[in-house]
Amino acid sequence: MTLIDSLLIDGTAAALVGGEWLTGSARFPVTNPATGELLAQVADLGAEEARQAVAAAEAAGAAWKKVTAKERAALLRAWFLRIQEQAEGLAELMTLEQGKPLAESRGEVTYGASFIEYFAEEAKRMAGETLPTHAADKRLLVLREPIGVVAAITPWNFPMAMITRKCAPAIAAGCTVVIKPAEATPLTALALARLAREAGIPEGVISVVTAASPAAVGEVLTTDPRVRKVSFTGSTPVGKRLLAQCASTVKKASMELGGNAPFIVFDDADLDAAVAGAIASKYRNAGQTCVCTNRFLVQEGIYDAFVEALAEKVAALPVGDGRASGVMIGPLINQAAVDKVQRHVDDAVAKGGRLLCGGKPHALGQSFYAPTVIADATPEMCVASEETFGPLAPVFRFRDEEEAIAMANDTPFGLAAYFYARDYRRIWRVMEGLEYGMVGVNEGIISTELAPFGGVKESGLGREGSRHGLEEYTELKYVCVGGL
Ligand code: NAD
Repeated sequence: MTLIDSLLIDGTAAALVGGEWLTGSARFPVTNPATGELLAQVADLGAEEARQAVAAAEAAGAAWKKVTAKERAALLRAWFLRIQEQAEGLAELMTLEQGKPLAESRGEVTYGASFIEYFAEEAKRMAGETLPTHAADKRLLVLREPIGVVAAITPWNFPMAMITRKCAPAIAAGCTVVIKPAEATPLTALALARLAREAGIPEGVISVVTAASPAAVGEVLTTDPRVRKVSFTGSTPVGKRLLAQCASTVKKASMELGGNAPFIVFDDADLDAAVAGAIASKYRNAGQTCVCTNRFLVQEGIYDAFVEALAEKVAALPVGDGRASGVMIGPLINQAAVDKVQRHVDDAVAKGGRLLCGGKPHALGQSFYAPTVIADATPEMCVASEETFGPLAPVFRFRDEEEAIAMANDTPFGLAAYFYARDYRRIWRVMEGLEYGMVGVNEGIISTELAPFGGVKESGLGREGSRHGLEEYTELKYVCVGGL
């Protein structure tokens, strides 16, 4: 039996509301972007089921926060181990519904599971404080408590990791969670929830409310007073809207939003390392990663060599169905994604960009797009200011360090930035000059559960991963004990 088969009740992949697997009265299709083939029909739930899930989460929360940290840690660990047992099935499922090459899906299973392992350990270290007192007859304590019911709204580009990065710290802290996965990739979310239940995580601690169109469920999750925290990962426009909705009940919110990552290559960089880092940072997941490079900024002296080496490697990247061996670029998630890349390419070429490879949908059809490099990019082009979210590398030119930092920071986004250089004084100056939440120095892949992930400016609020990621799901309660 495949993982998808295990999710089906009467032919429909069932959502999990409290302890109940619900098929609902409506369904929506989930398809493989590489082939267009139907993978499953999924329960299409609405506001009523979202309220049921919130009620179940609140009811379960009363008991869950009293479970000892050590027991919560053991249950998270059991979930982690269950995922390890099903790693290959989960990877295949992600490739089927999201399209990324199988090797990347395997990497995401490892990365996604690492949050569960890490926060299982961290659950035992959620300490409060005792403070020095201001009066001899008083003692001051700070308790760190679970925030309560959490709503997790997640995107399709990392169907597993974006869920575990929220759920693992929330559950570790003693919270209960209602997940609203992306409509393109709900099957991975349902499989994770099933494994959590099999691992012994109690009813109501995790619910998954699937929906074809998210607004009604989203409205409940952002306005119901029983939900105390919304953790969202997705685009900046949707994040702004949800943040505004959260205001009516003054919910805590974490927002992991879009980016416009610069990748700066200075004249003194190691060219081969920079090109390898560029490929990893730009073309992973066919460019559909929030921390993907969006703009290459390259210094005059190394510009021609970099562009030539990059285009040669990019033109040779194997494109195809993620299940085929050796494939490095899978399909984009849908036709709208292809249209956006094409709009950016056409706009850049019309404004003087030099197309070095790609520039059009791939001959494979569906939503495959040929990996593309455009030289002579300029700030007037859409690619300078908008997140492309596809396999397009525009390469801009700069003269000196000051200009590079100004160009890099000239955006409302501030998620990830990368630069390649050797001079250690320059490395410090540039690292400090970049207005970004995360910086890769001579490194194109920076994500790990051990470090705080998140952005500044319109790229978001809050951090995920590391001990800071646990704090996001807690409240501080100050207690003054008097009359001593
Ligand atoms: P999206 O904003 O369209 O959707 C994200 C989630 O929000 C989905 O589950 C969607 O159904 C839901 N949603 C949309 N409208 C909603 C509404 N009105 N109410 C409630 N929920 C609603 O984003 P996407 O296309 O799925 O993902 C791509 C975007 O996510 C990119 O901008 C990318 O940069 C960003 N992203 C950011 C991070 C990060 O950590 N900062 C990580 C991954 C992706």
